[in-house]
Amino acid sequence: MYKEDTIAAISTPHGTGGVGIIRISGDKAFEIAQKIFQGKKDFKLIRSHTINYGKIINPENGNILDEVLVSKMEKPKTFTREDVVEINCHGGLIVLKNILELCINQGARLAEPGEFTKRAFLNGRIDLSQAEAVIDLINSKTNESSKAAISQLEGKLSRKLKAARSKLIEFLAHIEVTVDYPEHDIEEITGQMIYKEIGEVKEKLYDIIKGFEKGRIIREGIDAVIIGRPNVGKSSLLNELSGKSRAIVTDIPGTTRDIIEEYININGIPMRIIDTAGIRETEDVVEKIGVEKTHRAIDEADLIIMMIDAKRGMDEEDNKILTMLGDKKLIILINKTDIVDENQINRIESLLKGKKYIKTSMKEGTGISELENAITELFVQGEVNINEEVLLTNIRHKNLIDRAVSSIERAMDAIENSMTLDLVSIDVTDAADYLGQITGESVSEDVMHEIFSRFCLGK
Ligand code: GDP
Ligand code: ZN
Repeated sequence: MYKEDTIAAISTPHGTGGVGIIRISGDKAFEIAQKIFQGKKDFKLIRSHTINYGKIINPENGNILDEVLVSKMEKPKTFTREDVVEINCHGGLIVLKNILELCINQGARLAEPGEFTKRAFLNGRIDLSQAEAVIDLINSKTNESSKAAISQLEGKLSRKLKAARSKLIEFLAHIEVTVDYPEHDIEEITGQMIYKEIGEVKEKLYDIIKGFEKGRIIREGIDAVIIGRPNVGKSSLLNELSGKSRAIVTDIPGTTRDIIEEYININGIPMRIIDTAGIRETEDVVEKIGVEKTHRAIDEADLIIMMIDAKRGMDEEDNKILTMLGDKKLIILINKTDIVDENQINRIESLLKGKKYIKTSMKEGTGISELENAITELFVQGEVNINEEVLLTNIRHKNLIDRAVSSIERAMDAIENSMTLDLVSIDVTDAADYLGQITGESVSEDVMHEIFSRFCLGK
């Protein structure tokens, strides 16, 4: 058990309302409370896990600082697994600060940011990914994202990662026995056996990585950009998607060349969509601003919706735009299909082989729900249901799982190339180590410091 001095901090946000909590944790927590709290009963006699009314009094001069409710929580059933006292004050920030100062005068030390959570982690109450979930929970703004943080806090992610890691460690042990004690009784492990099994671990990790993208999308939404030549139907599409109610902004001089944004909901995914001026090299100043913004918008976008005028067909310019997009997620709309014949559509389709395209008519409102489904398919593959899955929302976790997957792939390559098992085990060890850095089973002091310093004080 990790043991240290007694810490104290204001654990409610600063500057909001008149009520606040001071938290004290450590061996001296009860001793300090005994000295400064005066209630109906002597603090020593108060039962654990109860809330008690009384006053905070400075023992040095007898001054009353505030009327309070004090919770006494005896270890180990506490957040930090140490003795914890929480003082619920009624006074404002000044009173809170005075009481905190009193606690410190009586033997507590001011807690560092995240130190309560750090202790919970070090004392085995929660693992590292759960500790980070506490940060996410504090920071999460939307309902859905706080659900994701809670499920992480509950350890869903940890359970999956721990299972994967212990599988890897099991192989390592098995490899070690095979390599070091060739005359043992245990069934000898072969490269083929390991190959299949670590392949399965890799697949599971891969699923979690996919969840990262999903988690990010639910938290932050998708940034989409509509591009296409003037008059192709960009504003009409924006109107269709946002439900027609929006004022039509086209044809106001100056603004048509600029960027217009709209926030819409596509099957439960928040999407910010931008209607751009056409991408063309131009001398027109107003249009130039629009074009530059368009380039930037494309760089930052998660999704490009490119519209092609069915009547005009594909031209050099459209092709230029297509090559410029690189490997961005792209959906092409062949618009105005209501005014052309089948042959013309077929001609365009043959030029778009291998690309995702949808035939639309903004005039008739066709192809819109197909577009919405294509977007959902592209980003979340099916329903968005936070409760049923582990959503990876933390970039540190994502990077470590990526590395673990690469290490497993290297191990698999080594097996394919008939390398010796002890060479294979180097990569498997790395993979296990990366996973351990997420749950905290193997983690360096530096990383830990980095993580806990992201907490606000008092958490
Ligand atoms: P933007 O310049 O790309 O934003 O194009 P707009 O959305 O402003 O549309 C330009 C013109 O094309 C308008 O007169 C629209 O009514 C018309 N338009 C847009 N989509 C369609 C379509 O699918 N079929 C037909 N027939 N006309 C369309
Ligand atoms: Zn427009």
